[in-house]
Amino acid sequence: MTENDINKDYSCMDDYDPNSILPDEALRRIFDTISAITETESIPIREALGRVLATNVTSEINVPSGRNSAMDGYAINSEDLPSDGTNTLKLIGSSFAGKPSDIKLKQGECIRIMTGAILPEGSDTVVMQELVDVSGDQINFGADTKPGNNVRQAGEDLAIGDLVLEKGMKLTPADIGLLASLGLAEVTVTRKLKVAFFSTGDELRSVGEKLDNGAIYDSNRYTLYGMLTRLGADITDMGVVKDDRELMDEAFLEATGKFDVLITSGGVSVGEADYVKETLLKRGEVDFWKVAMKPGRPLTFGKLDSTYFFGLPGNPVSVMVTFYQFVQPALKKMAGENSTMPIMMKVPCISKLKKRPGRVEYQRGILEPDKTGRIVVRKTGAQGSGILRSMGDANCFIVLPLENNGVDTDELVDVQPFHGIV
Ligand code: AMP
Ligand code: MG
Repeated sequence: MTENDINKDYSCMDDYDPNSILPDEALRRIFDTISAITETESIPIREALGRVLATNVTSEINVPSGRNSAMDGYAINSEDLPSDGTNTLKLIGSSFAGKPSDIKLKQGECIRIMTGAILPEGSDTVVMQELVDVSGDQINFGADTKPGNNVRQAGEDLAIGDLVLEKGMKLTPADIGLLASLGLAEVTVTRKLKVAFFSTGDELRSVGEKLDNGAIYDSNRYTLYGMLTRLGADITDMGVVKDDRELMDEAFLEATGKFDVLITSGGVSVGEADYVKETLLKRGEVDFWKVAMKPGRPLTFGKLDSTYFFGLPGNPVSVMVTFYQFVQPALKKMAGENSTMPIMMKVPCISKLKKRPGRVEYQRGILEPDKTGRIVVRKTGAQGSGILRSMGDANCFIVLPLENNGVDTDELVDVQPFHGIV
């Protein structure tokens, strides 16, 4: 065997791992195991931004409540519209937004009307003010307006009984605006998930501490803080736990049953000082501990009493990739969200990508328009699992399937835009 052969053999072994399960299988197992929480709370609509709706919301009123004008102009009866030439109507009053008129229009009459004002009885059309000639109380206009123009019908936005927002939606600014337009001050949402996390590793120092020889700053607690905050979780940062069997056991016991989810990073490889899987086996159940993916193969999922457990790898990029691919969909499902998976789309890749078969890869990419305006993707720089900058520079994951063995320029690749993820 030449050195090349040895390397090749080793690299094949490295990428095909019989103990690993496929990412799809890992997701399926997670989704089969966890269930959505049932506790809900009623909160003011402003506080509900980003929260998950716990019930369907149907409209009890018409929005708008009455037929009103979409323009500043003149309310008329469409029978007074000329089929050609012009017509002149007599101005007999006005209707302003919030100050409706009780005039009943008769044939040959019109009233001045402002945007949002209720149409008076006897009118069904508004002629824009730009299209009329005014001479005293005589309003003259042509044939360019059609019956019903510039009128918003009652219930046009929402009618009584309409399903307005569906249970399981994550409330957006538009949604809380809609709730306000229905006159609802409060809304029922699922409670926030209680999520705790800690980092493991003797080499880790927290920001503010001195960096002695061989030490590194703990960044995983910060990326986890960011990702969990965006998800709207109620988070508890348990700090750094040393690579020590007893300390690890204590930390696990402290979290067990107290949180919906416990997330750790590091200590899940097969190194001497990797106690996470061992402690999970002792205190709870391990469902799986290796996924055929890159980065992030040593990913552990299990349960500690009522607390679900995710043991993420230690490398900073692996933490983010495994969080977005598995933890986030799981937390979304637990919080009662309908839509849990990131969107995926096919885009031409303008970089050559290296890959060996055997694992699904989540390379970091930048989606952008090329000179012709076509959306393409290119990779960020170095793709090592410790290079957090590759995540910072990226705006998408390029997802390469298990058997893929590299991508040529202009080949189509699957892309998950971060916008659809976070
Ligand atoms: P481990 O899985 O514990 O062997 O960690 C894998 C690599 O990730 C090692 O190089 C660690 O130093 C690094 N690492 C682990 N935890 C963190 C952390 N919280 N922040 C930054 N790097 C980490
Ligand atoms: Mg470690």
